[in-house]
Amino acid sequence: MTFPSLGLQEPLARAVADLGYEAPTPVQREAIPAVLGGRDVLACAGTGSGKTAAFLLPILQALSAHPGRMPRQVRALVLVPTRELATQISEAIGRYGRYLTRPLKSCLAVGGVSANPQMMALRGGADLVVATPGRALDLVKQNALRLSSVETLVLDEADQLLSPGFADELTRLLALLPARRQNLLFSATFPPAVRTLAARLLHEPTRVSVEPSSPPAGEPEAPRAIEQRAIEVDTDKRTPLLRRLLETHAWSHVLVFVASRHGADHVALKLNRAGIAAAALHGELSQGARTQAVADFQAQRVKVLVATDVAARGLDIARLPAVVNYDLPRSTVDYLHRIGRTGRAGQTGVAVSFVTASTEAHFRLIERRHHLALPRERIAGFEPTELAPPPLDPHGGVKGKRKSKKDKLREAAAASGLPRKS
Ligand code: AMP
Repeated sequence: MTFPSLGLQEPLARAVADLGYEAPTPVQREAIPAVLGGRDVLACAGTGSGKTAAFLLPILQALSAHPGRMPRQVRALVLVPTRELATQISEAIGRYGRYLTRPLKSCLAVGGVSANPQMMALRGGADLVVATPGRALDLVKQNALRLSSVETLVLDEADQLLSPGFADELTRLLALLPARRQNLLFSATFPPAVRTLAARLLHEPTRVSVEPSSPPAGEPEAPRAIEQRAIEVDTDKRTPLLRRLLETHAWSHVLVFVASRHGADHVALKLNRAGIAAAALHGELSQGARTQAVADFQAQRVKVLVATDVAARGLDIARLPAVVNYDLPRSTVDYLHRIGRTGRAGQTGVAVSFVTASTEAHFRLIERRHHLALPRERIAGFEPTELAPPPLDPHGGVKGKRKSKKDKLREAAAASGLPRKS
């Protein structure tokens, strides 16, 4: 199977050949012809499945076939939950669209940076806008963006877009779109809220499923080259254990997940003090600092990126060999998102989870949800001694440890089984 055989024209096929894509991935095989045919698509496609190209390539082809940009109007709207993911998609548009004979105009509409340049860019209209919901609404309010002639809507990471922090904005945006349009919905997981939205939004969709847990009938499970490990360790030995793992494995770079911004800053600081180049990535850094941390990690100027789920969502780091769950994800769904950062596009990867006495029960829940039964490993010198969950702090809040408003929101989201907002 080749890209042209799916109906893609030469300029797009040449662009993906340049990128070294030899054949379409399963989600691309199924979604591209459907999108080109103007159909709605409901895709259960995880991280690393090639879903970005699955929607961008046919959209670029359709947009370039029929020119027609109007001031402030946008023809294809891609909504995503995080700025980083928006930036990556925007970069992918540049790569995939580079040989199109009629260049397309795409704009990025994300928060955390000044809205002015985005408003200027939108003045003459855009073929594509890649946006986070909050900024898209702001731009609509400012009269810089009009959504009444959107021909195609993409909801990427739809499960995340439906988390409590976004659902309201998403509903308001959907109300601004024309009733007749093409809808493409991509989600790695399908909690009930996504099913409801899909039923409301999509018209006779082509269903695409390439998740290992639900392969299409008659097809073998998609091979996922992720080795999953669970290491038992005491809570306060996790940073030394992480250092040990970094010493004993030849990982070029590692994404480490922690539960809070304090955790991210703290672990990154400890690693840096130990001479390991590390950066923290969390939602409370400035946009510039976030971009810099990701760029440094991508260029392997830093070996370890210590991130919260928020910030790491949708990150596509080439050849990432390892992911470490320093803290376990609160929501079982996020476990899949996290480990999907490695083993992308056919490469192998390892996902290590640190399991402490107090998180063992939670890890068992994660295992049950994902039909896993991982052997518990112990590393010499780091054998756990904690027996029971440590008692709660009797003094209540410690400075800097008190739950932030966002933490509370995230906990509520986790308790409701939905993933969290950035
Ligand atoms: P995505 O799931 O869209 O985040 O894509 C994950 C990674 O796979 C990205 O680095 C893409 O560049 C890469 N990729 C997408 N499609 C293909 C393909 N057909 N062959 C090889 N790599 C691909």
